[in-house]
Amino acid sequence: MLWWFCLLGLSSSWGCAEGRPNTRMADPDTTLVLSIPAPILHPRADSLMAADPLWRRALEIHYRAIIFDGHQDSPTLMVDGGEDLVGAFGSYFGDRPNTSPVRRGYDWGYRYRAPQVHTDLPRLREGGQDAPFLSIWVAADYARTPGASARRAHRLIDSVLAQIRRYPDFVELATSSDEVIRIVREGKIAALMGLEGGHALENSLDTLRSFYRRGVRYVTLTHTNTNDWCDSSQDTARWGGLNELGRQMIREMNRLGMLIDVSHISDSAFFDVMAVTRAPVIASHSSCRALTHIPRNLSDEQLRAIARNGGVVMINIGADFVNPSYTAEFWRAVEERVRTRYGGNFSRMWVALRELKRERGIGEPSIEDVLDHIEHVRRVAGVDHVGWGTDFDGVPSLPRGLEDVTRLPWITYGLLKRGWTEEEIYKFWGGNVLRVMRLAETVARQLQQENQ
Ligand SMILES: [Zn+2]
Repeated sequence: MLWWFCLLGLSSSWGCAEGRPNTRMADPDTTLVLSIPAPILHPRADSLMAADPLWRRALEIHYRAIIFDGHQDSPTLMVDGGEDLVGAFGSYFGDRPNTSPVRRGYDWGYRYRAPQVHTDLPRLREGGQDAPFLSIWVAADYARTPGASARRAHRLIDSVLAQIRRYPDFVELATSSDEVIRIVREGKIAALMGLEGGHALENSLDTLRSFYRRGVRYVTLTHTNTNDWCDSSQDTARWGGLNELGRQMIREMNRLGMLIDVSHISDSAFFDVMAVTRAPVIASHSSCRALTHIPRNLSDEQLRAIARNGGVVMINIGADFVNPSYTAEFWRAVEERVRTRYGGNFSRMWVALRELKRERGIGEPSIEDVLDHIEHVRRVAGVDHVGWGTDFDGVPSLPRGLEDVTRLPWITYGLLKRGWTEEEIYKFWGGNVLRVMRLAETVARQLQQENQ
């Protein structure tokens, strides 16, 4: 039973202390795994390289890396996208005309101009995005009707699988770390699915298992609502963290190899998860509270706990997650506004925040602010515990210079300018989350063997 202590004590070498059982089978060789030959697909590559020689190196590294994203909300567009989204260029990757008709508002294979759409297959390719986790997001309202949350989640999954089937030459569903690598090496996008909102599990371990069988590979334990087993960071606490059903859910996720996503949950729930889980966790789309003080971001204490757990913090780039003007003092003013103007109804948090932002003349963040968050996780938790989880297609505004997925190379360029090495950049984009996936898969195999 000692083997899992290794997972809690993961260091930058991911090895185990002497005398402890070995989990080396789970240790990836990041440089080998991630270095795949890849063409530079960015249409502005020539002009960028002419402007600054560093761009050549940035683009070579960028298109060789396996680039994950912890959280993209395109499935909601696939189901709900209205006719207002239609803005297709009518061509697909430039060389293959897309002749499939747009049957509804959003079809993955078309390139969109609408500002609220940040991703589509052509732009994912152009931005070098290899492995996005597509969010099967179930809004809190569905929790009012028993069964409605799971039905909504299945509908979103159906849409994702239908879109993948429509473009088999360009995208494939990935359900394991090995599949991601195989699919990306074949030159395709490896689409993964994560379920956001634990209420969609309908308080049932069977339902959890059914989502795993359909290909879902992480569960965000809550959305903005506290559910029957876990407290949310944006709602009233009912359990002081996780209750017994919540702990059962965590243990079953470990047994299945379902990643646990700690984004959105309350601080108490976070530390309860850390005490129970035997696999490393992810924060699929959260940034740093020390730089942008909102409850959806993680404290330095939480960053250090994720480092000890071996997990990864995937930086959310929504403008409200990285704005450096949201200080602790600003946040206290938001709380005060919720109390005085909105009767303490915390669901009005974003409304109060935007009011204060406007009143104080606070501007929008920039790409440098995003890089600051990435470097903060590195400084506090270490370079093995930082990743990327944009919230593309799900946030109302993005920092200047990061308006959509085609802007990803600017992050690689920015990290190089700040002195990051090639290997560190590979870890950030994909190596770290691949390691977490592999360890979670190993834990699952071991737990399944123990139970036999
Ligand atoms: Zn979210």
